[in-house]
Amino acid sequence: MIDGPASAILKRRLGLHKARQRRPATNIYECNEARMTDSTQRESLTILLASPRGFCAGVDRAIKIVEVALEKHGAPVYVRHEIVHNRHVVEDLEGKGAVFVDELDEVPNDRPVVFSAHGVPKSVPAEAERRNMIYLDATCPLVSKVHHEAEHQYQAGRRIVMIGHVGHPEVVGTMGQLPEGAIILVEDIESVDDIDLAADVPLAYITQTTLSVDDTAAIVAALRRRFPAIHGPGKEDICYATTNRQAAVKSMAPQCDALIVVGSPNSSNSRRLVEVAESMGCGNAFLLQNASALDWSRLGSVSTLGVTAGASAPETLVQELIDACRERYDVTLETVSVGDETVHFNLPRALSA
Ligand code: SF4
Repeated sequence: MIDGPASAILKRRLGLHKARQRRPATNIYECNEARMTDSTQRESLTILLASPRGFCAGVDRAIKIVEVALEKHGAPVYVRHEIVHNRHVVEDLEGKGAVFVDELDEVPNDRPVVFSAHGVPKSVPAEAERRNMIYLDATCPLVSKVHHEAEHQYQAGRRIVMIGHVGHPEVVGTMGQLPEGAIILVEDIESVDDIDLAADVPLAYITQTTLSVDDTAAIVAALRRRFPAIHGPGKEDICYATTNRQAAVKSMAPQCDALIVVGSPNSSNSRRLVEVAESMGCGNAFLLQNASALDWSRLGSVSTLGVTAGASAPETLVQELIDACRERYDVTLETVSVGDETVHFNLPRALSA
């Protein structure tokens, strides 16, 4: 899926990288044959723009499902939980006629309801069917794949260890695929020691799709030390979008005085990008919901700023941030790319017809 972060760094070292220096911009213009110098001096700012960034195929599909459902059924269309973890996306859909609710009992029987991209416990579609509701499942196919894996391992007689964050909707949805107690949740290496099972118990692990690639590898290694026969997924559960966005941040973070991740505080993959930047030595990495929320003093005497966006953050928010930077700095924009993404998911058959 990616060329690897080294190629991007190499390109920059071979000459694409603009020198990190502060150069006052001096605008000179002529007036009545006299040369005048603009007294406004703006500092230089190099923005390293991560690629890929922002919307992934699963988020794109989930938003389209709500939009097409609105076209097909008219407003209101109900959505159980935030369709994706981004306030801007939610407000935009609300403007089009979507109504966001916490639970199915807030939805009238005769209106369609969409389940969010994070997935839902099995009890949710079961309840919708019991009430003869029209429901559309916007669960990302890569989350559904983890659901199937959990089910398959359980049918094969194994207990399941899930690596993920307590309370995250994706974790709640995945754990809700199996009877209570079938899945043991671990958040970190320390909690591997707390698993109350013998070393030879048939066991398999699955993971949340939006975790830190490196932290998860360390937890898997700890699981393998304690349970040498543990089964793992054929292909890692952490999705391509999470992996690629983290690779791009890894590639550029060491060169950045500050790094902004455009995304919401409840977006798991966005928060992981901040942690990845910090782990790569960028001491000033932070989440930002949108440009108007930026406290400019937080940038300090920045000369190279990294910018990326979580998988649920629209590109328009990134462009607004760059425009806001241009109003204050003499900006040079460079893209740091670790590869292209071509993944696309089709809409559910009920909407694509
Ligand atoms: S971040 Fe990954 S798992 Fe989540 S919606 Fe996007 S592609 Fe799917």
